[in-house]
Amino acid sequence: MARLQPVRGTHDILGDKAIRFRTIYEIFKQVAERYCHEEIDTPIFEFTETFKRTLGDTSDVVTKEMYTFEDRGGEQVTLRPEYTAGIARAFMSNGLQQSSPCKFYSYGPIFRYERPQKGRMRQFHQMDVEIIGVPEPQADIEVLALASDLLNALGIGAHITLELNSLGDPESRVAYRDALVNYFAGHKSKLSEDSLKRLEKNPLRILDSKDEGDRLLVENAPRIGDYYNDSTKKFFADVIGGIEDIGIKYKINDRLVRGLDYYCHTAFEFTTDQLGAQGTVLAGGRYDGLMEMMGGPQTAGIGWAAGMERLAELISEDILKNPQRPVVITPVGEAAQAPAMKMAHDLRADGIIVDMAYRGNVGKRMKRANKQNAVYAVLLGDEELSRGVAMVKNLDQGTQKEIELAELSAYLKGTNQ
Ligand code: ATP
Ligand code: MG
Repeated sequence: MARLQPVRGTHDILGDKAIRFRTIYEIFKQVAERYCHEEIDTPIFEFTETFKRTLGDTSDVVTKEMYTFEDRGGEQVTLRPEYTAGIARAFMSNGLQQSSPCKFYSYGPIFRYERPQKGRMRQFHQMDVEIIGVPEPQADIEVLALASDLLNALGIGAHITLELNSLGDPESRVAYRDALVNYFAGHKSKLSEDSLKRLEKNPLRILDSKDEGDRLLVENAPRIGDYYNDSTKKFFADVIGGIEDIGIKYKINDRLVRGLDYYCHTAFEFTTDQLGAQGTVLAGGRYDGLMEMMGGPQTAGIGWAAGMERLAELISEDILKNPQRPVVITPVGEAAQAPAMKMAHDLRADGIIVDMAYRGNVGKRMKRANKQNAVYAVLLGDEELSRGVAMVKNLDQGTQKEIELAELSAYLKGTNQ
């Protein structure tokens, strides 16, 4: 017999959770469109190379977390482990250099083979925002403003802190990298195995390590701010000035490096202490080196992704839109069955939300209508049918009224009461 549970780390989305997801997505879409971002939907799988080349072969995502398989044609493909690489690929595949700058938003499932725990799944969902082709700090300010607006619109802005850092331009980054290599090389014996590998390939990433021993070493490691050149300082100051001007609060965190290889300049995370260990709800940064790494022309980019599951835990009931209430048609007796179906169809064509009370005695059907939070129940019996009327029960008021069939739609819509 087939196993009846979902695969570990995956979840069905229904009921209250589905309402939360939809509410958040609708607000996200609204806010993103207010910033003139356009919708983009890239395939759920790409050639493995798209992610491997860009995320770097020391990243956790590439080394441990990708769902990669060979398809029947012998192609190596990977289920989307993040949005940016796929959107950058789409930018180039569609020749969008011509229409640069481009502003995108997207939403959908992401797949990472992680150890499942609260706030950490193997299939989860991200909302993503990217601005491609704007090397100026205005883009950094705008994506941060968009993030902040979204969290405020979701009613959770007050519980979330923006942590901000600059990874510098390539020159500053190289200088800092050398300083880090020097420092960690003196403590090799205390480094975790993963971080020993990072030391050679991407020492910045050691700062992101979750290993306890590494974390102790990181405390005394050189600080990136001491290695900024003038242009990095100016860029960072412009970003900070810009968000201060629009009133976004932030905290500098000079240990914040993003887990992926292609970031430069601005890096940020929006975190909360209300979700336990998995407190980052939204994270992103600038990736001016990405397109080149993928074999395209040098193109600036900045963006972020927010975890739907973590946001869904945070939002309050108040912002959830109540689902629209149905009208329930209740045929009484055999002869009313077919006309009831036809009535349901006609009312739906008029834009009314209609469900059928399929079976059971009238009492049972009314009970279910109440459970469905119906506004009206329309009772249709032989006798009413013969007179061209239906009995409409207002389930909130407990009243009932006979309505001519020709008037029913207008009555239910509340225009003819
Ligand atoms: P972490 O350090 O928590 O692993 P990350 O750096 O891997 O995070 P990003 O790649 O920046 O995360 O993803 C952006 C957002 O997506 C995160 O801030 C989080 O809200 C969400 N997210 C990431 N991984 C998961 C997961 N496995 N399950 C649920 N949400 C996730
Ligand atoms: Mg991760």
